[in-house]
Amino acid sequence: MNDPDAAQEGPIPSGLRERLALVRGRVAEAAASAGREPGDITTIVVTKFHPVSLIEELHSLGVHDVGENRHQEAQAKAAALASLGLTWHFVGQVQGKKARQVRAYAQVIHSVDRVSLADALRSEESTVDCFVQVNLTDDPARGGAQPQDLDGLVERVQATEGLRLLGLMAVAPLGVEPRRAFGRVRELGERARLTAPGATFLSMGMSQDYPEAIREGATHLRIGTAITGNRPVLG
Ligand SMILES: *Cc1c(COP(=O)(O)O)cnc(C)c1O
Repeated sequence: MNDPDAAQEGPIPSGLRERLALVRGRVAEAAASAGREPGDITTIVVTKFHPVSLIEELHSLGVHDVGENRHQEAQAKAAALASLGLTWHFVGQVQGKKARQVRAYAQVIHSVDRVSLADALRSEESTVDCFVQVNLTDDPARGGAQPQDLDGLVERVQATEGLRLLGLMAVAPLGVEPRRAFGRVRELGERARLTAPGATFLSMGMSQDYPEAIREGATHLRIGTAITGNRPVLG
């Protein structure tokens, strides 16, 4: 266990405050070793399956960005915590018929993965930030557009009223060196910028691989269990 990139080394602390501090420290360390400003990196705490009380606790510890991946759960939590002024990131798959509802509470949608979803998110009244999700596996169930469909999708999002494209989002596939996967996302992001010059952000890096993601230019980390502890098992 002397991999300098290992996200978890040593015992994992037991409290939320301690785990958050540990992750913040490692984000700062990885940023420094990559010659990057920690302030250019947003850590989103993914709180799926956890109760509203945990999000309140995170808020009291200075967390502003939270992520959820299931619409009904996210909608209920965002409504219950509306007074906190949190930024809600939706990181799960979005059904076309729920698109407008997700848009109503999420400030950032990380998972735009098809032209029909971009169309369903169109609005003349307001603008929502979004990422186009890339699927780095051959399994369509994983969510995300295949790399060969990316150009067309980026173009469509860019042309859609009410959407502001921030960049690309991806999950490193199992069994692939995370750093290689993230390097690929970085290259795809550079390519997307030929069509969408403002799409300069990269949403990548989770509990097990965020230091590698930072090295490849991640600007938005989506970190769950390393901060929240294990997710409660439901049903
Ligand atoms: C759950 C989830 C995360 C966080 O995963 P951890 O391994 O708990 O850090 C990040 N991104 C997406 C899309 C998720 O669904």
